[in-house]
Amino acid sequence: MTHIQDLVRIQQIDTELQELEELLGDLPTKVNELKTEEDRLIKSLSEGKDRSIEIDMATDKNSLEMNSVKEKIDKHKDQLFLVTNNRQYDALQHEIDHLKEQLNTIEMTILELSEEKDSLEENTKEAEENLESLTQNLVERRTKLESMLTESSENKANLEAQRTEKAAKLDMATMSRYEKVYKARNGIVVVSIHGNACGGCGSAVPPQIASEIRSGKTIYSCDVCNRFLFWESAE
Ligand SMILES: [Zn+2]
Repeated sequence: MTHIQDLVRIQQIDTELQELEELLGDLPTKVNELKTEEDRLIKSLSEGKDRSIEIDMATDKNSLEMNSVKEKIDKHKDQLFLVTNNRQYDALQHEIDHLKEQLNTIEMTILELSEEKDSLEENTKEAEENLESLTQNLVERRTKLESMLTESSENKANLEAQRTEKAAKLDMATMSRYEKVYKARNGIVVVSIHGNACGGCGSAVPPQIASEIRSGKTIYSCDVCNRFLFWESAE
């Protein structure tokens, strides 16, 4: 037979379970977010390192090319003194102008690479610092989470076992009503009466019903908020 005291106990257990959940709060979500951010930083650092190697290689290649173009220009300039006619002179001069243009392009490329490298190094430094503090934060939160989880999971399992045991004693109609009111009334389903008033919504309970509630023999619920009512004798 369904007894009001069993409902009272189920309400207590549910409240404790709720509190456990709140205690953990958004810690697991926060830990996951930090982990995602950590992965992102590690990936970006590794990509930065690869790009830095590419830049160094490209800079070396362009420097070699620059030297070879410079040498060519010098050689052509020397040849200018040896030419015997204007046509040859113009041809050489034309070639020198062309090489100078090439040299310009190469120097511009080297400058761009050097600028990219500077900003890459700046970003890398920043990412490394972020990663360091993030990892530290992550370790702290994870440690905290793990100890809380261990502590609470035992507690939770214990409470859930008690709840199953109690719920098995109650008839299904009462339990399904309990669940319905639990959802509708923010988890507060079983309330004590204060004098002749519902402890949940404050509505008046007829004196005769209140007296039967005090006897604890039958289960009553509030006409207004549908919560189960009981009498807390210690009051
Ligand atoms: Zn009520």
